[in-house]
Amino acid sequence: MNSHHYGIGMTSQRTRNRLAEKLQEMGIESEAVLDSIRNTPRHLFVDEALASRAYENTALPIGFSQTISQPYIVAKMIEALIKDRKLEKVLEVGTGCGYQTVILSQFVQQVYTVERINGLLMKARERFHELNIRNIRAKHADGNIGWPQYALFDGIIVAAAPIGVPEALKEQLSIDGRLIIPVGKTGEQKLLLITRTIDGYEEEYLDAVSFVPMLGGTN
Ligand code: SAH
Repeated sequence: MNSHHYGIGMTSQRTRNRLAEKLQEMGIESEAVLDSIRNTPRHLFVDEALASRAYENTALPIGFSQTISQPYIVAKMIEALIKDRKLEKVLEVGTGCGYQTVILSQFVQQVYTVERINGLLMKARERFHELNIRNIRAKHADGNIGWPQYALFDGIIVAAAPIGVPEALKEQLSIDGRLIIPVGKTGEQKLLLITRTIDGYEEEYLDAVSFVPMLGGTN
């Protein structure tokens, strides 16, 4: 494969547009979200050896036994998070390679993101810097406890699946705030939308999903 082919083929605008079209066929309706999928260079978030597969609608390995989320799931979660509202502060748990963080940063005034694997977090930070994105604050920490210093959040989005919803995350939602979270054991996870109300929480089932498990502590 020569560089010419590589440049205009595997990571070209046309290839990205095709991914957005596919997500639209799968049910993503928000034009803004589809635009952001078109405009975000996903190949910069994976190893060079995998760049040619970056615009396939699949999860891909990013090292440390973790994966970059499937584009459809990123789009679906962000669509559910931003539907009919403007968001100021959003917490993301599980920065990973930072792809979803960068998509989020296009819709939210300030993104707070936490990752428990320092090697991933440091690389993600470099990418935010290279892409000149200034509204992301990233921390090496266990997301099970949220980020109390900056709570409350209008939205929380979780990229790894705990067995049950961590109380701290619910408590760090503002009234009307939304928590998008995959819950359950590998093989039987559900994606939930939890909304905080004046007197409690409402829960809505969004999809059957397959995420890496949410672990405790840091690495
Ligand atoms: N949205 C990311 C998804 C990465 S996979 C991307 O597209 O790259 C999920 C990430 O959650 C992994 O990087 C994993 O290390 C992280 N994670 C798992 N448990 C965590 C926890 N308790 N706190 C913070 N991050 C966690």
